[in-house]
Amino acid sequence: MDEEKKLSFDTLNLKDNLLRGIYSYGFETPSQIQDKAIPIFMTRKDIIAQAQSGTGKTGAFLISSLQKLDESVKETQILILCPTHELVHQIYEVAVELSKYLDVSIMEVVGGTNVTECRRGLDKNPQIIIGTPGRVLDMIQKQSLFTNNIHTLVFDEADEILSFGFKMTIYNIIQTIPKNAQICLFSATIPEEIIELSDKFMTHPEKVLVKKEALTLEGITQFYINMKINDWKYDVLKDLYDTINISQCIIYINSKNKLMEVYECLIRDNFPVSYIHGELTSSDRKKVMEEFRSGHTRILLSTDLLSRGIDVQQLSLVINFDLPKSKETYIHRIGRSGRYGRKGVSINLVTDRDMHYMKEIEEFYETKMDEMPQNLEDYLSV
Ligand code: ADP
Ligand code: MG
Repeated sequence: MDEEKKLSFDTLNLKDNLLRGIYSYGFETPSQIQDKAIPIFMTRKDIIAQAQSGTGKTGAFLISSLQKLDESVKETQILILCPTHELVHQIYEVAVELSKYLDVSIMEVVGGTNVTECRRGLDKNPQIIIGTPGRVLDMIQKQSLFTNNIHTLVFDEADEILSFGFKMTIYNIIQTIPKNAQICLFSATIPEEIIELSDKFMTHPEKVLVKKEALTLEGITQFYINMKINDWKYDVLKDLYDTINISQCIIYINSKNKLMEVYECLIRDNFPVSYIHGELTSSDRKKVMEEFRSGHTRILLSTDLLSRGIDVQQLSLVINFDLPKSKETYIHRIGRSGRYGRKGVSINLVTDRDMHYMKEIEEFYETKMDEMPQNLEDYLSV
């Protein structure tokens, strides 16, 4: 009978002007994770929150952060870290909207941008900082970013943020944050080793966890196309082009070199697509994202740079040109479609050699991938 309980933002004890922002942004009722995580966040206990992709984790930590923020204290109070510039910018835009009726200063702090400008922005002690770990640590060390009033530290895509590449940077950032600050981890995937690791810097975190079998969403249909060898994938992709061009689509390719090769072939063969990877300049990356978000480009080739967090509602199809190296990445990639209960489709291009790994992924998530049917269009109808 409890399942019938109507969730409401009104019962979450939020500031009136925050509620106004939430409703004017278009959220009517909280999602499950928002309803669960916001009250825990407000207790100021550390929290590890996991929920499937596309279910509103951003709203959960932003609404909580804005609720906790003391508007009258003009110091940096909240630090939100995530792995890519693209994700920082996306979270920033949501934060600006949700805080429209509050008196709050928010700043993005990411690499690849002008350092002098960055320092100038930080001189104003923005109350909320959303950033990538490298630049944030750099700004702390250069004494441009003051951490002594930070009471809330949020890691979005926490398992990625705590993975090998970022770990030392994160460790160094944590050292500078007041000991009693609240630390909050959010991700769709929280592997066991992350929970173990979190023991080292969190205090009795409250956990909201999802079983791995429950991670694949019903709304996302998963197909595969089997071919003998890697070299045939390109032709398969060309055959798919007209079908996939009716919706918006991301095609994931594991390596940057392969991505460029596929891109150049597609352009040469007159199949317009765009591409993104981490070695483009910051401003090029921004431009590519703007064009894709506006629907100006429909098909985007990407490395795992965009495997996490990116939210483009019209995106209904994900193609894995290569299966990702880790099982976590698989769930993040396909979760780029089917946002907030929408329908999505994913297609995996698998060679004979990949079939075994594909079966492993199926078993791991207790899910099923079917051979791609002729009438793919029917699944893509938006
Ligand atoms: P996650 O981080 O869990 O993958 P996001 O926070 O990116 O998901 O949210 C996915 C989509 O759901 C976004 O487009 C967001 O605007 C939408 N959304 C989130 N919360 C709500 C809500 N309470 N009501 C309506 N839409 C929501
Ligand atoms: Mg997210």
